[in-house]
Amino acid sequence: MAYAVAPIEDKYKVVPTTDPLRDAHELQRRGERVLVLYSLSTPLFVEIWQEVREVASKYPVVAGGPHAAGDPITLLKLGVKYVVIGDGEVALPAIVEREAEGLEEVPPNTLMLVDGRVRAGRRIYAELIHKTYSTSLGAYPPIEIMRSCAYRCTFCQTWFHGSVRYRPVENVAQMVKHYVAAGREEIRFIAPVGFLYGSTDGKTPNVDALVGLLRAVREAGGRPYLGTFPSETRPETVTRDVLGAIKPFVANRRLSFGLQSGSERLLASTKRDHDVAVVEEATATAVKMGFKPVVDVIAGLPGEEEEDVVATVKAMERLVSMGAHIRLHYFMPLPGTPLWGREPKPPHPLYWDFLKRHRKRVEGYFEEQIRLSRAILETYRLLTLTTPSSSAT
Ligand code: SF4
Repeated sequence: MAYAVAPIEDKYKVVPTTDPLRDAHELQRRGERVLVLYSLSTPLFVEIWQEVREVASKYPVVAGGPHAAGDPITLLKLGVKYVVIGDGEVALPAIVEREAEGLEEVPPNTLMLVDGRVRAGRRIYAELIHKTYSTSLGAYPPIEIMRSCAYRCTFCQTWFHGSVRYRPVENVAQMVKHYVAAGREEIRFIAPVGFLYGSTDGKTPNVDALVGLLRAVREAGGRPYLGTFPSETRPETVTRDVLGAIKPFVANRRLSFGLQSGSERLLASTKRDHDVAVVEEATATAVKMGFKPVVDVIAGLPGEEEEDVVATVKAMERLVSMGAHIRLHYFMPLPGTPLWGREPKPPHPLYWDFLKRHRKRVEGYFEEQIRLSRAILETYRLLTLTTPSSSAT
């Protein structure tokens, strides 16, 4: 939300709220014109879709975020006036202007219903040069340094956002100065693959770019965290060269990268573009170089068979014995990803056994994600929108 309102907060009043109906009503009573903004992930949508529908029946609503990009049609059907499906920095100023001036044109990167038909605004890709914090919300979130991804993992939608773009180092340094002035020296980044910042092909680490970024953050007074949430990386980027170059600058010793599955068959079918061996190599390298590897694994992937579970548990055992921690996830069906519409496999007992054996070495929200995964499917059954007319499919 900080990213969304940053480009408009100098010109318009932004009011954070936990009760949009009450606050919108109060603002309207005082003669203000109101536009209600939601930034929706799928878990949040599951929690508040009835509220969105109710607010949208009374006020113009804008919805953005990954869920809006993944399933805009459902949101339009719920009455949302503007659904942002692309870069919000370009969309939101145009949406606010359209409302304020009564313009006709559909704003860029936005879907609307016009006379009952879906209309799309122009697609415009933003440069990553906009402000990453919001003074009106008092929010200084991680700085987005990379948008989109050159990989095509089927459980992910990050790669739908156009060509891979990077925030210029000078701009990052400028942002960091503001964060530091506001007392936020701890600088975290948002990147689909942290160690690919500045990569020319989106797949090969650019050590000079990484060092340039981290040095600039240090010079601006920040303490950078890279390769850990929310700038996790891929296993093949965890090399001696990269770790040796970044170690003097980064504040983190924790590194997160994905195995996702120990089954070569599932790695291939989910288009991960790496094998199990490269994750073991990354783990060994990380430990040798003084980092703590935390490896992501997804249980319950659609199509997961007994032999895939056995292979995954074996791989996790090997990684733990090498010094890794495991961050165990349960597959969540997310609209807008190629795996949307495929049923998760029920959590296999071997995963629970592994959890019991290694409680101290396993992190994550496995049980919550099982509940959440079911809640997503249940919500869509309730909405009866998993039909060809829903963009989620
Ligand atoms: S899971 Fe990671 S590597 Fe795969 S497409 Fe998404 S961001 Fe890229």
